[in-house]
Parts: sequence; structure tokens; C-alpha cells
Amino acid sequence: MAVSATRPLDTAALRADFAFLEELVSGKPLAYLDSASSTQKPRQVLDRMRSFYEHEYANVHRGVYRLAERATEGYEAARRTVAGFVNARAPREVVFTRSATEALNLVAYAWGLENLGPGDTVLITELEHHANFVPWQFIASKTGASFRHIPIDDLGELRLETLDELAQEGPIKVVATGLVSNSLGTINPIERLAAWAHEQGAIMVVDAAQAAPHRTIDVQALGCDFLALSSHKLCGPSGVGALWGRAELLEAMQPFNLGGEMIRSVGLEKTTFNELPYKFEAGTPAIAEAVGFGAAIDYISEIGLPAIEQHEHDLTVYAMGRLSELDWVRLFGPPAERRAGIVSFDVEGIHPHDVAQILDWEGIAVRAGHHCTQPLMARLGVSATTRASFYLYSIPEEVDRLVDGLHKVKKNLG
Ligand code: PMP
Repeated sequence: MAVSATRPLDTAALRADFAFLEELVSGKPLAYLDSASSTQKPRQVLDRMRSFYEHEYANVHRGVYRLAERATEGYEAARRTVAGFVNARAPREVVFTRSATEALNLVAYAWGLENLGPGDTVLITELEHHANFVPWQFIASKTGASFRHIPIDDLGELRLETLDELAQEGPIKVVATGLVSNSLGTINPIERLAAWAHEQGAIMVVDAAQAAPHRTIDVQALGCDFLALSSHKLCGPSGVGALWGRAELLEAMQPFNLGGEMIRSVGLEKTTFNELPYKFEAGTPAIAEAVGFGAAIDYISEIGLPAIEQHEHDLTVYAMGRLSELDWVRLFGPPAERRAGIVSFDVEGIHPHDVAQILDWEGIAVRAGHHCTQPLMARLGVSATTRASFYLYSIPEEVDRLVDGLHKVKKNLG
């Protein structure tokens, strides 16, 4: 990926923030190479959540007493942090959700049910995570819209030359795509897709779950209409994510979840709804988790997204180089310049689950499976891959251990 020169990460200092690195697995230090699935949490995030629970906790937006005001301020400060992180025009454009999955469901249901109909097309990609695939497929079938995909080439990159042909098949109303593929690491050209989507009169929905932890996100520069992200992928707690949306689109949408907090007034005859963003936050939210999400954004922002990106890029180049020395390992995906810190591969003749099992005996955690991208697996002609993924605490020695571990896999099962 194109990155500017940045100061290298001080991984030794950063690793001291992560208690999990003290864990031994099979008597060996843990090489955690599954950050694309979920990241580990630094002490700073855990300390902030503990202190919030101990000194600031109450339900939000309700009490008039001071503790409730403090809790609300902590929660709303986290919203401002997320808004700044994605360069939203205003904090009210940020809705806290349970996850990136819920954020994408919110758009598919609340926007899609009202705005899609027979003859319209929803366009996703062959790379898509199920979270940005299944909700659109479902809502398209409910509304009678067509559900089409942008195909990929053999390197796992979008075949943009197919766009014009796809546009001839009927009005495209939604283009929904990930910024970074969780299976291959492919970085998609969102600016270009967003400009094209708008030319078609479509909205552009971006799944940034896999991108936000690793590169600067600017919703205004991307030119998108909605963007989903997740806390647990960027050193924050699970159970919370966010949807950013253009205020005018969010204003026009019906609510997604209904209940307390999201109302203005409730009567036996009629209920009216709250203003943004509360209209989309029914019930008690994940309060301390939102605060932890904000603390995680502060943590990675202080380190610097460009430095994190460069670090992962260097590790990816190293890992791809070392893995390509093994002629019985097949690598999937584009060159390192056009991918994030994710390396998916196949060990000839050995099922990925067996690969991951033997690596676990060596204290190496990798992911084996379809990675919630079954249509992509079908395109690659495999049922599963083994995936190593990196984050700011990953180091080259862990890549070396992965390669040594793969030699053991080959010796035992090859
Ligand atoms: N999209 C992508 C690209 C992902 O990698 C993931 C998580 N695996 C999701 C969406 C879902 O995110 P969450 O776990 O927050 O629902």
C-alpha cells in the first residue's frame, strides 16, 4: 500500500501495553496472528473502562443527578472521538451500534426497505464479508430489487471495467463494499466507486470494519454516504461499533430499533421519534464499551495511523517474501503494495483447520475457515484458507515462527 515515510513503531514499548503477550501456549509465548478477527486490548483501554465503571457510571441521557451527567458526558465524548476519527461533519452523524454488522443491517433495513423496489439494483462485491452481503441480499429479496456483484480478478481485485455493463441492467440504487477485504487484504478504490455510484444516483455504503484499525478514514474525502466500523477490531472492547451517515440521509430514514430513548413522545395513538443520533439508539446502549471504544481510538491515534499502516505493510512484505519461499504454500490476494496486513494462504494437500491446529501446538494463533466470505472462497475455488493477520503489536519474529510452524505442519501431515 502507498505509504509515506514515518517513524517506525517502537514495538517493544507498545507490546508492554498488552498483557496477553505474557501468556504461554503449550509453554511458548503466544504469537497472535489473528487480529483481523479481533484485536487484543491495551491496558490504557482497560484502565479507562475500569475507571469509568468505578467513578462515572450511571445510565446515560436520563438522570438529572451529577453522576448521570458525568456518564452521559463520557458517552458523548466517545461519540465526538469517533466523529473526529472518521472526519464526520458533526457528532450527530455518528450512531453507536452493537457492531459493524448491526451498523450495516441498520442501513440495509432502515434505508433499503424505504428506498428499494422492483427494477432497482443493489451492487455488492465478490469480496464482501457476509455482514455487508447477507443484509443486502435479504432486503433486495424483500423489496424485489436485483442483487448483483462486482466480480474480482484472479488477484482478488475488483474488475472495475464491468461497472458500465452492470449499470445497463437497471438503475443502481446502492453500492455497498468493504474498504479492506478481511480475507485477502485487498484495498478497494472507494473514492472512485463512490463517484461512480453518485453518477448512477446510488448511495455508497462502506464497510470499514477492516480498514479503520489500520489507515486514516475520512468520510468526506472518500465521498461515501454511510460507513460502518467496529471497536473490537481497533483495540477497543467488543459489543460496540458505529455507523457514520450523512445527516440528511439519516434524518430522512425511519428508525431501526424501537423502544426507550429513541422517542420524542409516546401516546396511545402515535409516537414521534427523537432527533439524531438518538433516533437510532433504542434502549440502554453499551455505555462503558463506547467509552472504551473512544479510549481505543485515542490510543491508536496517539501512535499514529500512518505509522501503524507502515509497520503492517513492512510485516506483510516480509511475510509474503518468507511464505513464497515455500513452494507448497499458495498465497492468495494482490501484491503487498495494494493490500493491508492480511495474508491468506493454502498449504498444499492439508486442510486449513489441520494447519491451524498444528500451529496452535506451537503457540501460533491463525484463523482457518471461510472468514465469512463464502462467495469469495467459491471464486478462489477453495472451501477455506489459513489467514495470518497483523497489528501494531505484531513482530517479524512471529512471522518466522509461522514459517517454522508450517514446516512442522508439512512434516507431520504433508
Ligand atoms: N466486515 C468486515 C470486513 C469484517 O472483517 C468484520 C468482522 N470479521 C465485519 C464486517 C463484522 O464486524 P463486527 O464483528 O463488528 O460485526
